[in-house]
Amino acid sequence: MNPIELRKDFPIFEEKINGHPLVYLDSAATSQKPRQVLDVLKRYYEHENSNVHRGVHTLGTRATESYEQAREKVATFIHAPSANQVVFTRGTTESLNMIAYGYARTRFQAGDEIVLPPSEHHSNLIPWQQVARATGASIKYLPLQPDGTIRLEDVEATVTEKTKLVTIAHVSNVLGTINPVKEIAEIAHRHGAIMVVDGAQSVPHMPIDVVELDCDFLAFSGHKMCGPTGIGVLYGKKELFEQMEPTYFGGEMIDVVELYESTWKEAPWKFEGGTPIIAGAIGLGAAVDYLSAIGLDAVAEHDAKLANLAMERLQAIDGIDVYGPQAGVHRGGLVTFNLRGVHPHDVATVLDTQGVAVRAGHHCAQPLMRILGVGSTARASFYLYNTEDDVEHLVEALQQAKEFFGHAIG
Ligand code: PMP
Repeated sequence: MNPIELRKDFPIFEEKINGHPLVYLDSAATSQKPRQVLDVLKRYYEHENSNVHRGVHTLGTRATESYEQAREKVATFIHAPSANQVVFTRGTTESLNMIAYGYARTRFQAGDEIVLPPSEHHSNLIPWQQVARATGASIKYLPLQPDGTIRLEDVEATVTEKTKLVTIAHVSNVLGTINPVKEIAEIAHRHGAIMVVDGAQSVPHMPIDVVELDCDFLAFSGHKMCGPTGIGVLYGKKELFEQMEPTYFGGEMIDVVELYESTWKEAPWKFEGGTPIIAGAIGLGAAVDYLSAIGLDAVAEHDAKLANLAMERLQAIDGIDVYGPQAGVHRGGLVTFNLRGVHPHDVATVLDTQGVAVRAGHHCAQPLMRILGVGSTARASFYLYNTEDDVEHLVEALQQAKEFFGHAIG
């Protein structure tokens, strides 16, 4: 895998940012899009655009075939036993809410428990708060180690026969921690609970096999994996999709509609009410082709290598605090840090003047920020088009920021 060659696939790197070449270190928020995906979107609108599953005309057939082929590609990508286990959604947030509404809210009751760590993205936290409010079920939080990792013995101690659902991010969007989802799923299943995995930060960056992980549901977003915005995926086990209710009712998802009641199609179509995200799904199919051709093992190794390098380089700078697993620990491709005494928004603004794009804020994880004892942090995240030079640019820009804010650091 050669990131310098791969960069040529991404037109955005021709942009100059404040007079500098773009150093894009915000792929955990959203990734850039290669020409291979952009071309497929253009081709779709120019040569296939039509509604799916309805028209008997040629364009309708073409669009339907491309849309359903994209589902096959995604299924193969995550090793789902069947394409019918792949539902197209708007993204991770929608996928997780669909489980909360269509599965948990109709099943859980007072006395039931939902287990998760307090470090979850708001998208994998608030839906469960809402389930708890609506059903009387309660939330139990897993203890976090100081570096943000979870100990399996704590999972064993927290999950009981009352637990109905265990959920966790495969990779933390703040700390880069890689959580042992397979082992946690095994504990959940032993107690009769289902396992929901937030794959927003793992599916784009490492090979995923849903059968091997034995998760019951997996949610992820297309826009973080070279695909378009507005498309995501909910994978589910067949029997759970059979039990789960649709969240959206209307066209496309029905079998027979009577005046006072109706029946639904089978999964995945019963979950895709209304005109689906046709171009988005086809674009995601192209993104999956693109990533598969590179190889997810290579992507995982590359991202982790850059994150480790960044970790080492940042830890060596006086005045910078780095959070999460330390250098050398197997991690996802991101590093979270603060320049002591300076608000991360100010740090990010100064980095931007050098063309370096990092994320600053609470990263949709306010409870985790409280545990870390900070209001917000800066985050540099890496993907297949980043290079060691990008890490050096980050370090240089941070040195400049440090000088600029020197008075504040004291
Ligand atoms: N979970 C995690 C771990 C994430 O990083 C994100 C995106 N920041 C989400 C969920 C939500 O994804 P989306 O905004 O695409 O729905």
